[in-house]
Amino acid sequence: MSFSLFSHPDFDDHAQVSFVADAATGLRAIIAVHDDTLGPALGGCRIWPYADEAEALTDALRLSRGMTYKAALAGLRLGGGKSVILADSKTQKTPAMMRAMGRAVQALAGRYIIAEDVGATVADMDQIAQETAHVSGVSAGVGDPSPWTAEGVFLCLQAAARRQFGSDLKGVRVCVKGLGSVGWKLAERLHAAGAVLLVADIRPETVARAVAAFGAEAVAVEDALAADADVFAPCALGAELSAETIPSLRATVVCGAANNQLATAADGARLAAGGVLYCPDYLVNAGGLIRVAQTTLGFDDAAARARLEALPRTLEAVLAGAQAQGLPPAEVADAMARAQFRAEAAPLAKAS
Ligand code: NAD
Repeated sequence: MSFSLFSHPDFDDHAQVSFVADAATGLRAIIAVHDDTLGPALGGCRIWPYADEAEALTDALRLSRGMTYKAALAGLRLGGGKSVILADSKTQKTPAMMRAMGRAVQALAGRYIIAEDVGATVADMDQIAQETAHVSGVSAGVGDPSPWTAEGVFLCLQAAARRQFGSDLKGVRVCVKGLGSVGWKLAERLHAAGAVLLVADIRPETVARAVAAFGAEAVAVEDALAADADVFAPCALGAELSAETIPSLRATVVCGAANNQLATAADGARLAAGGVLYCPDYLVNAGGLIRVAQTTLGFDDAAARARLEALPRTLEAVLAGAQAQGLPPAEVADAMARAQFRAEAAPLAKAS
């Protein structure tokens, strides 16, 4: 197997990519810093049993680029970075491995700040915190960011439904794919708002719990995208929406927590052409980043809450801009974000 880095299709001028190994603990990781124009690159650590190293690198590059755009559009003075650990979080992750990861983060001297992502927990961040101060989402700090992510997605989903259906969420059919830390909380909020839930997860016991708790309809994982729903909320992993899958999508709104939902940039245009309102992933899922940024940027809970509640307004601005310019929302969001972190751009209106 071979793969490229500087000529990788997702390289996108990354500022730094570090490959980390620690034989004693079995740690193999990639830390990607996409851009640190606005501040240190804060981004989660995904622990995942990748099929191979090329897949892990692609994931790290795509995820860290997304963090730059996410922070910029959320008005946070942070850069974008992400790390991946090539391991199964259930069977291979150990406290010693997490501490080795902490030492790797420490070696970057603050250019990258680590936090939770899929497969990583608050307890893991506590281990990392024994080796470095460049960590967020620890138990002594703001803790688990997932409820904040879920809340931001919920607020944006409400705004998208108002725009697309002219209504609140009562009776709106929402298919949530992935009932993990974020997806479950999102399902709770949607249920409380009167939405009709369809749910899919690779863990049948979680699906059964959702059926019991929310009166949800269980959907097979492979049928989730084509389910009879008004809204598709991807809350598992990325690249759900592609040339192959978009034709089978029945929902006319896509709004979910998963990062990198579009397989390629062309898929944003494909969704728009099909009349689907796509809510850019890194915009609607920024709640968790806002939460973990509190420690680094030094704002309080009320300020964090205000930033969270601003997300649907940013979404409305993106959707209105897309409509006015005849462009896919993803392109408009990208342009708005780039205007914040590209060197030629005007400075942020509000300092964090
Ligand atoms: P999680 O690991 O807690 O949950 C993921 C869920 O998806 C699990 O229940 C898992 O069983 C399920 N799943 C995995 N593969 C699946 C598949 N192919 N089909 C259906 N279900 C599948 O992760 P999370 O923290 O809830 O994050 C979910 C998504 O949101 C990820 O893409 C993550 O990057 C993104 N995200 C999370 C946060 C956060 O605060 N946790 C913030 C921003 C973005």
